[in-house]
Amino acid sequence: MTRRQAILFTATAAATATTTYAQQQQPYTLPKLPYAYDALEPLIDAKTMEIHHSKHHQAYVDNLNKATEGKSRPPLDQLLKQPNLPAAIRNNGGGHANHSLFWEILGKPGTQPSGALKSAIGDLAEFEAKLKTAGLGVFGSGWVWVVTDGKSKLAIETSPNQDSPWMAGKTPLFGIDVWEHAYYLKYQNRRADYLTAVMKALNWDAIGKRYKDLA
Ligand code: MN
Repeated sequence: MTRRQAILFTATAAATATTTYAQQQQPYTLPKLPYAYDALEPLIDAKTMEIHHSKHHQAYVDNLNKATEGKSRPPLDQLLKQPNLPAAIRNNGGGHANHSLFWEILGKPGTQPSGALKSAIGDLAEFEAKLKTAGLGVFGSGWVWVVTDGKSKLAIETSPNQDSPWMAGKTPLFGIDVWEHAYYLKYQNRRADYLTAVMKALNWDAIGKRYKDLA
């Protein structure tokens, strides 16, 4: 560990004084998928979901645990808000946080935004079109995000690699993975078709609950 990193982690430990020492040392774990691997068929195929969750996400968790071995392990949002993160933590911590949220906000095709979230989104078709355009505009691997300002305003943003909105001081309401590993088995190079499908697989009830909790 460099001196700079040592200072960073000491500062984190102080900032999370309400967390016990034992809790801080707990390894990060792969969250259980809240539905079956085939639950999003035919929009997202079971094989893609299985590999994405049990291999890709698991690898981010394992590598994040290696990168934080013997150091404090604060909640992911706190971890990712720290400045000058070492690459292994930035990439794998981002990967763990981004996918953990992704699984949560999928899984209920046919739902629609309601209540305060519906008002914030406005015209859903228009909103989805903007989200799709932003997702298509990500060059290479990355994410398209809907972020909140901690009040009620929403914005669509993108990030490269596994960068998280937390790293830029933003709060992610939900995000869509546009890495090829999220769609290549079924959609190959057709990211537009994947984006259309994955937006139909959103769980707007879960997103609405999160919106309410974040407000
Ligand atoms: Mn992914």
